[in-house]
Amino acid sequence: MSYEFPLVFYHPERRLVTISAIVEGGTGGLAGLLGFYAAKGVKVLGLVTWVTLYPERSVGLNIVADVTDVEGDLSDIFAEMGQIREVAAMTVYESGVKGLATCLKGGFPTFLGERLFVMPHALFEGLYHTIFESLGGSAFAILRRAGRKVGEFARAFRAIVGEPVDLLRVMNEISSTLGLAQEIKVISVEDNSLKVSVRELADCVSISDLKPGTKTGHFFTGVLEGLFEGVEGVEYEVEEVECINAGGVACVFEVRRTTGGPHRGRDAWGAARGGT
Ligand SMILES: [Zn+2]
Repeated sequence: MSYEFPLVFYHPERRLVTISAIVEGGTGGLAGLLGFYAAKGVKVLGLVTWVTLYPERSVGLNIVADVTDVEGDLSDIFAEMGQIREVAAMTVYESGVKGLATCLKGGFPTFLGERLFVMPHALFEGLYHTIFESLGGSAFAILRRAGRKVGEFARAFRAIVGEPVDLLRVMNEISSTLGLAQEIKVISVEDNSLKVSVRELADCVSISDLKPGTKTGHFFTGVLEGLFEGVEGVEYEVEEVECINAGGVACVFEVRRTTGGPHRGRDAWGAARGGT
């Protein structure tokens, strides 16, 4: 299953606007505003909402709406919207490109307080192609090191989730949502190592058309190293042992503990000993 990313809308020949508003009265106020739009012929295509702390119980929202079929003067209708009792603030934007509107105005999407770059496949693929075509095998060490930095950042999740197995679940959810990978899971656990399989890993998928004929998940290798070291507090070495670019059906990573004795409770990593 795939989704259109619901932050950018493009419907050529339609007149789209972004409406940014603060609505008081909680979800009741929001329902009232949406009812008003419907009555005026403003078709809501997508919206992002959040509950604001100040003013209390207010709902912040950015709406992308199609106003092509609205009858009457649009500026009058927007002025009328601004007069609705529950609407504490409202701004209407047009992008300047007919048929194009985005759900985010006046800021960036963020993730754990970090600015989030949302990039289409073409951009990611362009970056990876260029790196591999320019640097060849030398790129691998750089990507691994960069991935490790990301893995260290992922430690922030440790405070949010409990056991490592939950950490991997969180990582799986987020990676899938961001389009980076699917089905990150532990497939076997031994005393000092475990194996993690990943499907649709962006590192490898993005250059599969170059037919590199070698394992290419170096960035994710670094991510796992940074993540496991951050969580367990001892050194780890990660190696990609199967890769879609080297004939594998998935990318599989072996995560080996190099210091500090065996894994604490193998149950923590969510797979039976030696199981698949
Ligand atoms: Zn791979």
